[in-house]
Amino acid sequence: MRECPSCALPVEAKTSVCPYCGYEFPTTSMGQRIVAWLMILLLLGASFYVLLAWLLY
Ligand SMILES: [Zn+2]
Repeated sequence: MRECPSCALPVEAKTSVCPYCGYEFPTTSMGQRIVAWLMILLLLGASFYVLLAWLLY
């Protein structure tokens, strides 16, 4: 359980929207978005190096 910063009522940790006031918790979705972007950048970087190695050798 965690406390809603908007209405200060205890809500389930899994829920992303407060059932009492409709407050949206930004932490989980933001973290997932950052992880997704990091994965995309990692894949782009890896494919770039593969292409570079393919062009050079
Ligand atoms: Zn709330």
